[in-house]
Amino acid sequence: MKIETIAIHAGNTTDSNTKAVVQPITLSTTFERAEDGSYPAGYIYTRAANPNRLSLENVLAKLDGGVEACAFSSGNAAGSAVFQSLEPGSHVIAPEDMYHGLKALMNEVYSRTLDITYIDMSDLAAVEKSIKPHTTRLIWIETPSNPLLKISDIKAICGLAHQHEISVCCDNTFATPVFQKPLDLGADLVMYSSTKYFGGHSDVLGGALVTKTTNTQWEKIKSIQTLSGAVPSPFDCYMTVRGLKTLPYRMRGHEANALKIAHFLEQHPAIEKVFYPGLESHTSHNIAKSQMSGFSGMLSFTIKGGEEAAGKVANSLKWITQATSLGGVESLIEHRASVEGPLTKTPFNLLRLSVGLENIEDLIADLRSALE
Ligand SMILES: *Cc1c(COP(=O)(O)O)cnc(C)c1O
Repeated sequence: MKIETIAIHAGNTTDSNTKAVVQPITLSTTFERAEDGSYPAGYIYTRAANPNRLSLENVLAKLDGGVEACAFSSGNAAGSAVFQSLEPGSHVIAPEDMYHGLKALMNEVYSRTLDITYIDMSDLAAVEKSIKPHTTRLIWIETPSNPLLKISDIKAICGLAHQHEISVCCDNTFATPVFQKPLDLGADLVMYSSTKYFGGHSDVLGGALVTKTTNTQWEKIKSIQTLSGAVPSPFDCYMTVRGLKTLPYRMRGHEANALKIAHFLEQHPAIEKVFYPGLESHTSHNIAKSQMSGFSGMLSFTIKGGEEAAGKVANSLKWITQATSLGGVESLIEHRASVEGPLTKTPFNLLRLSVGLENIEDLIADLRSALE
């Protein structure tokens, strides 16, 4: 089955009672037992399993070519489950440039039990050098990264990691399985914030993990999911399944628009630099081309004239809304450094753009007039 067909069918079942074509939302928290004490439909209690969550997990696993998936109430909850699955004292290697909220969680919560090293994940020699024999248990990749759109070589890092029996988890939120399949490139786990492209309409929070094999780490992650209970509600599962049905088509539109905007910005005199893996000028364009089938809809750019000039541009846009988050049908722009706080390494004249599905001519006209 091809990805468009999986996206539409793998998260849906026709209701056997009503024959409703779209799977209904099962809000019941509890499920009736049979006289012999068994659970005829396999459901006991909604934290452990729910029909909408199982449908979501089924489509998530199939989209990435994995064997199983766990859905969470947020991307951070998904990441959290991976860190909780590690033994205390484990060493984790993570990228310096990564989603700031997850890094905050690692620093504020997991640094108490885990030893975490941040490196430039696009530098393979740095990855190798930071491996601690016997204690490094996990390499966390985020590619393309947030907000600098850095590219990590998934295959090369996994090769290195597996020589040392280290597992690799890849945050694939920006690329989505439409454009990048980390499990095929050697990763053990893929992580998502489904709040972004999966939901696709900026109206549902969620996260996901997909595994390549059902090993002991995965069994631990599954227990953490159902025992901790950071699970999405049946309604949230329904919304995410609904969003996923159009994911392959939306991603094509996001990419086509982003590529045109990247080219437009690159030749604009007010722009200092554009960060987009689809541009030949991107430092890791060749690696991006070899591991991605498309470059997605996220880009960043720096503006001549510093933070003030960047603020003016963000404030002068009409269709592109100034707000955090990404991956929705509407274009969003954000001054990342002010969100990330005083310790950020993000340039102060940088704006991150989540390119939406509006007409490209309107988006470019909006940017052109704001840059004047
Ligand atoms: C948003 C995001 C997260 C965190 O997901 P939430 O759903 O906000 O908890 C993690 N990684 C990336 C790349 C993100 O964009």
